[in-house]
Amino acid sequence: MSSISSIFDNLQKNRWRISQTNAQERIEKLKNLRKHILQKRYDIYKALHDDFQKNEVEIELTEIQPTVAEINFCMKRLKKWMKPQRIKTPMMLMGTKSRLRYEARGVVLIISPWNYPFHLAVVPLISAIAAGNCVIVKPSEVTPHTSHLLCELISQVFDKNEVCVVEGDVSICQELLKFPFDHIFFTGSGRVGKHIMRAAAENLSSITLELGGKSPAIVDKTASIKSAAQRIMWGKFLNAGQTCVAPDYVLVHKEVHEMFIAAVKNVWKKFYGESSRPEVGQIVSEKHWERLATMLDEVIADGGKVVLGGQRECNHNYLAPTIVRDVSLTASIMKQEIFGPILPIVTYESLDEVTSFICNNDKPLAVYIFSHSRGNIQRILTNTTSGGTCVNNVAIHLGNPHLPFGGVNASGIGNYHGFHGFKTFSHARSILYQGPFSGLSFIYPPYREWTKKL
Ligand code: NAD
Repeated sequence: MSSISSIFDNLQKNRWRISQTNAQERIEKLKNLRKHILQKRYDIYKALHDDFQKNEVEIELTEIQPTVAEINFCMKRLKKWMKPQRIKTPMMLMGTKSRLRYEARGVVLIISPWNYPFHLAVVPLISAIAAGNCVIVKPSEVTPHTSHLLCELISQVFDKNEVCVVEGDVSICQELLKFPFDHIFFTGSGRVGKHIMRAAAENLSSITLELGGKSPAIVDKTASIKSAAQRIMWGKFLNAGQTCVAPDYVLVHKEVHEMFIAAVKNVWKKFYGESSRPEVGQIVSEKHWERLATMLDEVIADGGKVVLGGQRECNHNYLAPTIVRDVSLTASIMKQEIFGPILPIVTYESLDEVTSFICNNDKPLAVYIFSHSRGNIQRILTNTTSGGTCVNNVAIHLGNPHLPFGGVNASGIGNYHGFHGFKTFSHARSILYQGPFSGLSFIYPPYREWTKKL
C-alpha cells in the first residue's frame, strides 16, 4: 500500500508537467514505445507462449500488429487532435468566440485482462500517452509472463513518474482502486466491472468499462452460407474462443440450417484437416477449463448434439473447437458468456424471435448479421442494439481505428481506438472568450424595464 501510495503521489506531482507536453514530445514517446515493442517482438512471443501457448501467427495478428497500427495512426494525427477547435457562436453571444480544448485528465489507471494481455494493456496506454496523462497500468495476474514483460518494457520506455506498471492480483487492484484517479479504464468481465464502478464512485473518478457478453451471429436464408461458416468459425476459434468479440452462438434460419452444418464441416476440414487433435490455443487456466467442460456437459444434457470436436485434455487445459447443434434458446449455455471454443447453433423461424431474444438479454458487445437482404439487415439493426456490428463478417470492425470500439451498458460504457481513445483519456474543456463588445447588457439588474414588457 505504501509503495502504491508513493507511486501515485509521484505521478500526481508530475501530471501538470506531462499534461503540458506538446504533440511532438508525445509523438517521440510513442515512437520510442513502438521501437521497443518491435525490438522485443520475440520476447513477446515467448511470454504469450509461456502464458497460454499462443502461436506466433495469432500473436502477430492480434497482439503486435494492431498495437503498432494504433501507434502509427495516432502519431500521424495527434497534432490535429490536440489543436483547439473553433466552435460556432450563436447570435445571442455576439462579441464572443468559443474554443474546445482537449486536455489531459491527469493520473489514470488502466486495468487489463488476460485474453489479449499485451494488446489490451498497451492500446489504451497509447491513447492515454497521446492525451498527456500519467498512467498506472495493472495487467492481469492470470498471464504473469506477459505481465512481467509489460513491466520491463514500460520501465525501459517511460520515466517511472510518468508511466508505471503495478503487477499483482485482485487485492493489489483493490488497493489501487482506493486512490482518487482522474480516470479508470477497465477491460474485463461485467462482474468485476461493477466493483470498479462502485470503487470509482467513492472518488467520482470517471470510468470507461470495456466488458464482454454474448455476441450473436445471425445467419438468414439469403446469406452466403459458405463464407458465413468460414468467418464465424475463424472469429470463434481464434485464441481458443477467448475473445471478447467472438461470436458466442449462431442463430441460423431453419431452412438453411442443414446447409450451414454441412458448410461448417467443410470449413473444419480446411482449418484442421483430419487431425484428431485440432490445433487451437490453450484455455488459460484449469479454472476456466473446468468452467468450459461443465458448460459442454450441460449443453449436451440440455439436448445439444456435438457435431465436431468435443475432445478434452484436462492436464493440458485443452478443449478442441467444438460445434454443438440442436441447442435451444432456453439451454443453460445461452445464459452466460462462453469465452471458449464451444459454438452452439440454434435455429430460428422468424426474425422477430431473433430480435426479441437479443433484446430480452444483456446488450451484446457485438451483433453479427449474415444476410444479403437489406430489409433483414435493417430490421435487425433497428430492433436490437449492441456495442458494434459487422454485416457479413465478424470481429473485424475492431480493425478500423476511425470507428469507436466499446460496448453498451452490460457490455461496456465508453469507447476507444484512434481519436475516440484520445477523447476518452482527455477532458473536453469548453472555453469562451469575451471580446470588447458585448450584446448582453440586458442581462444585468435592475430588471424593471423587462418586467414592464412581460
Ligand atoms: P476479470 O474481470 O476477471 O479481470 C480483469 C482485471 O480485473 C484483472 O486485471 C484482474 O486482476 C482485475 N480484477 C479481478 N477481480 C477483481 C476485483 N474483485 N476487484 C478489482 N479488480 C479485479 O476479466 P478477465 O477474466 O481477465 O477477462 C475476461 C472478460 O473480459 C470477459 O468477460 C471478456 O468478454 C472481457 N473482455 C472484454 C474486452 C473488451 O474490449 N470489451 C476485451 C477482452 C476481454
